[in-house]
Amino acid sequence: MRTSPNIVITGTPGVGKTTHCELLAQRTGLRHLSINQIVKDKGCHEGWDEEYSSWIVDEDRLLDTMEEEVEGGGCLIDWHACDLFPKRWVDLVVVFRANSATLYDRLKSRNYAEAKLQENLDSELMDVLIQEARDSYDEEIVIELQSNTSEEMEENVDRIEAWVKQWTLDNAPAKEN
Ligand code: ADP
Repeated sequence: MRTSPNIVITGTPGVGKTTHCELLAQRTGLRHLSINQIVKDKGCHEGWDEEYSSWIVDEDRLLDTMEEEVEGGGCLIDWHACDLFPKRWVDLVVVFRANSATLYDRLKSRNYAEAKLQENLDSELMDVLIQEARDSYDEEIVIELQSNTSEEMEENVDRIEAWVKQWTLDNAPAKEN
């Protein structure tokens, strides 16, 4: 039994996963697990894909590497996919969304190649990540939040922080008399 929840933070690249996770880690004490970083640092990949400019992830190795830490609870699991994480690990899935113009500007400023930029914009427009989340987890633990403005970010962080507090109260170990 975990005493602190695990939250998957997902969405198309550029929607604000990292930024939200960093704020949430400060506010809630949950640990930010950047899957990109783990894949790179712990070698959970089968090489670099030139076409997509990303690592070819070795999912089994990644899950083995994360298992001990995640099973203890208290993780913000930050990645642009979510269907590989076992249901038993996950208490909440947050899918961040952004509108096309906003996402275009954010990805452009990262110097994404045009094809990669377009692919990500299409993915956002076609609801790929929210569908993946709904297909992979129980409907009641999946929430969709907008992340276009700093006001929205503030509201999102407040809302998730409140959820974490409530989850922690609801799942506190029963006191022995
Ligand atoms: P991701 O981790 O999903 O790829 P980032 O957290 O790196 O996205 O955010 C991409 C850029 O967009 C960053 O410069 C970040 O500051 C900005 N950003 C993300 N969400 C918001 C938001 N809600 N309001 C304003 N800027 C945002």
